[in-house]
Amino acid sequence: MKELIVASRNKGKVKEIMELLEGLPFKVSSLLEYPDLPDVVEDGKTYKENALKKAITIAKITGKMTMSDDSGLEVAALNNAPGIYSARFAGEGKSEADKNQKLFRMLKGVPLSRRQCRYRCVIALSDGKGRQLGVVQGTCGGVVALKERGTHGFGFDPLFIVPRYNQTFGELDSSIKAKISHRARALVKFRQLLEKTL
Ligand code: IMP
Repeated sequence: MKELIVASRNKGKVKEIMELLEGLPFKVSSLLEYPDLPDVVEDGKTYKENALKKAITIAKITGKMTMSDDSGLEVAALNNAPGIYSARFAGEGKSEADKNQKLFRMLKGVPLSRRQCRYRCVIALSDGKGRQLGVVQGTCGGVVALKERGTHGFGFDPLFIVPRYNQTFGELDSSIKAKISHRARALVKFRQLLEKTL
């Protein structure tokens, strides 16, 4: 079976992508299975640039079809920060809990009625020669909670309230996130892209 590499070492992200790509005629692996491959520096100015750089770099090294997900949280009251800097906006090597606390500090005094936010996920696909096959994206709107709630998911999920349920992704069952998240929406389009490619 042909291999498709997910160019990420983020365990939460990789788990979600693997589950959402089940049933495809590919052996899906990630950089967690390739410890010797380099970390690709995310120095682009857009999600798309970063996603393409990660997919194409890993595809060229491995010779295998590679997809990558560049994602982030955009907070309206912060002019859409942290956005593409979501992984590192609190400083290099900071934990997810540190990042959540930093976001709460940045939003200190902002009431729930003005804490609208949006997750964005951009996915790029490269063939085994490093040629770009397409880029798709998905978004999911929410509200930044006043404190962390729940332990499901990863990253910002315990502070991301889904208005329709009035619960955070940390509280909601992962099966709900798998239907409505930015990543789930992008992956629906990604499957179509893959089918077209095959
Ligand atoms: P990158 O795509 O590797 O640049 O990192 C994306 C960052 O955005 C992650 O480290 C998380 O902080 C955040 N993020 C993206 N998607 C999600 C999600 O589904 N849940 C929680 N945090 C997310």
